[in-house]
Amino acid sequence: MSDPNDTLFGKIIRREIPADIVYEDDLALAFRDIAPQAPVHILVIPKRPIANLAAAEPGDRDLLGHLLLVAKTVAEQAGLAETGYRLVANTGTDGGQTVYHLHFHVLGGRSLAWPPG
Ligand code: 5GP
Repeated sequence: MSDPNDTLFGKIIRREIPADIVYEDDLALAFRDIAPQAPVHILVIPKRPIANLAAAEPGDRDLLGHLLLVAKTVAEQAGLAETGYRLVANTGTDGGQTVYHLHFHVLGGRSLAWPPG
């Protein structure tokens, strides 16, 4: 597993590469996915690098709860509160994770199929 300090998302947090940031606070950042899979596709990440949910520990409880509330906030800001949305945390190889810095995908703006492929 790669170093979570040295991912693309670390570079976005440090403003070393650009991103369309829609939310920021002391603990979290949210920005639009570069390859959106829905009309609204926002990534919510902690500023502190955690590789993925599998690497999270009991001490991350408050941070994880905060990220869920940030996901709710950005979904509301994007106008998804009424129509609904999906929150996804791809985890590890079989989960389809490609960037090893924990992130929640907020997807909405169209009807999403279930189960995912
Ligand atoms: P994963 O596959 O790890 O669950 O999700 C990683 C996401 O990061 C993908 O949806 C991909 O499109 C997005 N992504 C990859 N590189 C960049 C980038 O440089 N900027 C932004 N905004 N998103 C990126």
